[in-house]
Amino acid sequence: MSTILVVEDSVLIRELIREILERAQYDVLEAADGRDALQKLQETLPDLVLMDIQLPFLDGYAVLSQLRHDQRLNRVPVIALTAYAMRSDQEEARRAGFDGYMTKPIDRAALLQMIHGFLTEGRQFSKTRTTKV
Ligand code: MN
Repeated sequence: MSTILVVEDSVLIRELIREILERAQYDVLEAADGRDALQKLQETLPDLVLMDIQLPFLDGYAVLSQLRHDQRLNRVPVIALTAYAMRSDQEEARRAGFDGYMTKPIDRAALLQMIHGFLTEGRQFSKTRTTKV
């Protein structure tokens, strides 16, 4: 069973994502902000992280940067979640090192398809597949 860490400050969106993931038989961990995310990542090694970009205390870019500099964590695929559908934001997320990019509102099928790809192919998935906009 794969474990997914959901980093999202909106309780409603976090609960929606939890429901989607649990119905697909994933184990779900939650973090409500950037500091909480780093704390959870110290305690556990999730198989994948879904990370909101705009978060209190530390934003998604800052959390990603710390994760990528940690040998224990740097192979974990990280998918950015953002409300912005702008192409430039997707490019910025890619440059920052996110492996995939999902816009909110969340498309359930697209999210599950992307997660499945990363869990079966690892971070290489991003080099062979286009992320959803
Ligand atoms: Mn947010």
